Amino acid sequence: MSKKNISKSEYYLEIDKKWTARNYKPIPVVIRKAKGPWVWDVEGKKYLDCLSAYSSQNFGHLHPKLVKALKKQTNKVVLTSRAFCNDSMGIAAKKLCELTEYEVFLPMNTGTEAVETALKIARKWGYEKKNVPEDKAEIIVCENNFHGRTITIVGFSTDPDAYEGFGPKTPGFKIIPYGDVESLKKAITKNTVAFLFEPIQSEAGVLIPPKGYLKEVNKICQKNNILSIADEIQTGLCRTGALLACQHEKVKPNITLVAKAVGGGIFPVSGVLSSWDVMDVITPGSHGSTWGGNSLGMAVLEAVCDLLVEEDFSQKSVDLGNYFIEGLKKIQQKHPDKIKEVRGRGLLTAIELHDKARTYTEAMMDHKPVGLLAKETHEYSIRLAPPLIVTEKELSSALGVIEEVFDE
Ligand SMILES: *Cc1c(COP(=O)(O)O)cnc(C)c1O
Repeated sequence: MSKKNISKSEYYLEIDKKWTARNYKPIPVVIRKAKGPWVWDVEGKKYLDCLSAYSSQNFGHLHPKLVKALKKQTNKVVLTSRAFCNDSMGIAAKKLCELTEYEVFLPMNTGTEAVETALKIARKWGYEKKNVPEDKAEIIVCENNFHGRTITIVGFSTDPDAYEGFGPKTPGFKIIPYGDVESLKKAITKNTVAFLFEPIQSEAGVLIPPKGYLKEVNKICQKNNILSIADEIQTGLCRTGALLACQHEKVKPNITLVAKAVGGGIFPVSGVLSSWDVMDVITPGSHGSTWGGNSLGMAVLEAVCDLLVEEDFSQKSVDLGNYFIEGLKKIQQKHPDKIKEVRGRGLLTAIELHDKARTYTEAMMDHKPVGLLAKETHEYSIRLAPPLIVTEKELSSALGVIEEVFDE
């Protein structure tokens, strides 16, 4: 293909289209570099990142302290596999556990793997500790959930785009409405081993459950001897204004899943946090991952934990979130014909539109001289979740861009 007569961006978009599977429908911006809340495309145009790689970039792109930890570790050792031990894993796990008040961490790499790991733990716990008959374990999940892309996980998705064509579904899952404790009570049987939920359904469009839901869920799980499993992969690490979103209701589920921001936006890290009386069902050979707990990822995780101790990202998220949501609501008041609702907690926010969102997200990208990058979630919502290191001034200009786009 010749580079003549097309822009640099078009050149890369064409190459992507020809050589990579089309499992995404990206906003057509081709990013070359990033720093903090900003990214630049191949033509040199600047954009405010209002997606943060789905909350992976909570601390901003290439945070100097995290990059330093990464570089330092690459000069030492990156991967040994779990056949041997390394001097990073235990230290990082200790810091993460102390920060989140859990007893033990099982490190994996991606969010999906953390979810799969928790499902395995829950089933084995059910057979060994609750005497559920062999192969009868049931796990309850919620409508509109997003927990990842493996064949088991998409099998309990209620989004046809995610599950269609991938049957047969893995048995043993029951789907109930989100935010409804009565449905949870009704769905529980003697073979129920766990309830898997997101404290806020981010992918579904930042759906916030009724106040008290998380607390009630935890109570019901305790009373019925079933494990509560919080998927905090997107809500965790201060995104919603608390280290973990369940802490808004002072709830500590039996299992919490982390990914995305725990890798500091520079290396994939994920894992399962729990107590020993649950985690001890995992024994040598029953689970594993070649890269899980690798020296590099664990060095980054340790630096992420240090950063969370040094700086109050929760308070930042609360203050900036309030400011941002207020600004979005003002834009909504001006354009009630276009914006149906503004939702959010901390800096995890979304606007729901009457029309399809894609026209607006592309207009935000196209805004000159500085663009704004956000992505529609499903067809009618736009999630707005800038890095937590963004300033009020930067958010103010973001609101300016959003307002201009709706004015047009
Ligand atoms: C992103 C996400 C996952 C999956 O994580 P991957 O790293 O993409 O595998 C699972 N659950 C939630 C809530 C997520 O946001």
